[in-house]
Amino acid sequence: MDERFDVVIIGGGIAGISLAARLATHLKIAVLEAEEHPGQHATGRSAALLVEAYGPPEIRRLTGMSRAFFEAPPAGFCETALTRRRGGLIYGAERDLPRLREEYELARETTDVLWLDKDAVLACCPILEPGGVAAGFLEPSVLDLDATALLQGFLRSTRRAGGAVRTTSRPERTELAGGEWLVTHDRGRIACSVLVNAAGAWADSVARAAGVPPLGLQPMRRSAASLPMPPNMEAQLTGLPFVAPVDESFYFKPEARGMMVSLADETPSDPCDAFADDLDIAIAWSGFTRQPASRARDRLRLGRD
Ligand SMILES: Cc1cc2nc3c(=O)[nH]c(=O)nc-3n(C[C@H](O)[C@H](O)[C@H](O)COP(=O)(O)OP(=O)(O)OC[C@H]3O[C@@H](n4cnc5c(N)ncnc54)[C@H](O)[C@@H]3O)c2cc1C
Repeated sequence: MDERFDVVIIGGGIAGISLAARLATHLKIAVLEAEEHPGQHATGRSAALLVEAYGPPEIRRLTGMSRAFFEAPPAGFCETALTRRRGGLIYGAERDLPRLREEYELARETTDVLWLDKDAVLACCPILEPGGVAAGFLEPSVLDLDATALLQGFLRSTRRAGGAVRTTSRPERTELAGGEWLVTHDRGRIACSVLVNAAGAWADSVARAAGVPPLGLQPMRRSAASLPMPPNMEAQLTGLPFVAPVDESFYFKPEARGMMVSLADETPSDPCDAFADDLDIAIAWSGFTRQPASRARDRLRLGRD
């Protein structure tokens, strides 16, 4: 046998690398990542927001439990702060009020939120079309996360504890033999007691290749882009919260050098090296700047040949 580890983790995104960092202090760990760099797929494309009033109840609880680590990571984990206070504003038009009220009540179960009337919503985000706003709520504790520093911190912790992170490393064969997993890759064979599938969108194909029944996961594509702010609006936009209508038909948030916009789409897709759909981005941008989508698309020169 070429090598033996206690645990081999397939997938070097935030899930695989953060798990490796936790386990490496107790166990002999290896992470196998197919790409040249960890975090190249979903992890490198996230909006990097911590929003407690988002997603199903289990996710809300996990998000809440993660906050303490992000706000006060262990000494030596990273050199810069992992978080910056952003705030989050959810708003709705008259017809959305029942849903907005429901979302507000749900949010109150896990985090502090403030109900805002129309004027307060527009004071919080003056660029919204007043006709589309009846009320909203603010989650002041929404954070911007430094996703790169977070991933790098977990990578450093893994390596410091003796864990191995192998990039451009994709298992060719994975089999269970005599109570041990045998992973064959282009540079040899690895034996391990526990094999972890942290392959994100590829998790079902990794399971199938290892003879494990897939869970039936459906990868979804979400288009997002970071676009330059209109120069005449830069000063006004930089301090805005993360903003989304309650029907989640789009969202935007200021970043260091631009504005991130997304239609918050969830388009079924095969696992792949995802790219933003140019029309989705043009529509999101047109919602944000109140321009027709066709004009936004031309201005952004998003068309592909
Ligand atoms: C546009 C967008 C915005 C988002 N915004 C937020 C947000 O604001 N806040 C938030 O909390 N979350 C957000 N998310 C979700 C978040 O990014 C993901 O939940 C998270 O990054 C998933 O991490 P992961 O490690 O599971 O997957 P990935 O980062 O995709 O990692 C899986 C890794 O497995 C590797 N792999 C696959 N197959 C193999 C194989 N056979 N062998 C070896 N390696 C393999 C891949 O190369 C990949 O690196 C967003 C996602 C998107 C797309």
